[in-house]
Amino acid sequence: MPLFGAHLSTLRGLHNAITAATALQCGTLQIFTKNASHWSAKPLTQDDINQFRRATSASKLKHLTVHDSYLINLASADDTIYTKSVNAFVDEMERAEALGISYLVTHPGSHTGSGEEAGLARVIQGYEEVHARCAGFNVRVLIETTAGQGTALGHRFEHLAAILQRAACADRMDVCFDTCHVFAAGYALAEVSDYATTFQQFDDLIGLSRLKLFHVNDSAKPFGSRVDRHASIGLGEIGEEAFRRLVTDPRFLDRPMILETPKKDDDGNEMDAINLGRLRSFATERAG
Ligand SMILES: [Zn+2]
Ligand SMILES: [Zn+2]
Repeated sequence: MPLFGAHLSTLRGLHNAITAATALQCGTLQIFTKNASHWSAKPLTQDDINQFRRATSASKLKHLTVHDSYLINLASADDTIYTKSVNAFVDEMERAEALGISYLVTHPGSHTGSGEEAGLARVIQGYEEVHARCAGFNVRVLIETTAGQGTALGHRFEHLAAILQRAACADRMDVCFDTCHVFAAGYALAEVSDYATTFQQFDDLIGLSRLKLFHVNDSAKPFGSRVDRHASIGLGEIGEEAFRRLVTDPRFLDRPMILETPKKDDDGNEMDAINLGRLRSFATERAG
């Protein structure tokens, strides 16, 4: 069975996310190490780090993942935003490394009008600068597939392929596949043949061996809408068959699969437990 997990809150302390993940019987977990809509944060204290590392090693969680701040835009043509983004991304790397995190997931950013090629050149330069300043780190950057809202890069597999082909630091990077984003970007998943074609395209351009992590989200917005709104598993436009297929796909049985779905439904039900239960039942009903 894949390692199922969820993006969990660290509001009451980083290590509390480990406790919450364990209570949900997760195999993996994603967190922010700081407020994702702020540029800067207090540095982690040695106590924060020790507590988190102790909680991690006492748990069964594997491939701990951090998502970076939403403000970071390494594709920006604006020098001030670009420099701020490089510094903020180095901070994300340092925090993740101190905490013993496996993966740092990031969106490749938005070109904001400079064009795709200029944006790609800029983000490649950004990743190179960041990695040069983080020599020897173990944490691995995963570039996430995006829905392609506005001028966001990453909604075509070609964008990620270009980064991984051209960046001097590409051997330190891989990819996070977000099912909601990919579907909203116009890669079909619902029908068996569409699912096969989408992963074939990914394999041809990027290689499935570079797909290290899934964000498993259904999509509240229609196919090809290029709007990023996550829905609970089976309750969105993708539908549950695609998730049944994904969690039993023999190519992905060792991959972490992380939910970023709504925390509560309209009736106030705690949805992480319900969505994790759905994924587990899909994984076991076919295997058993
Ligand atoms: Zn995601
Ligand atoms: Zn999203």
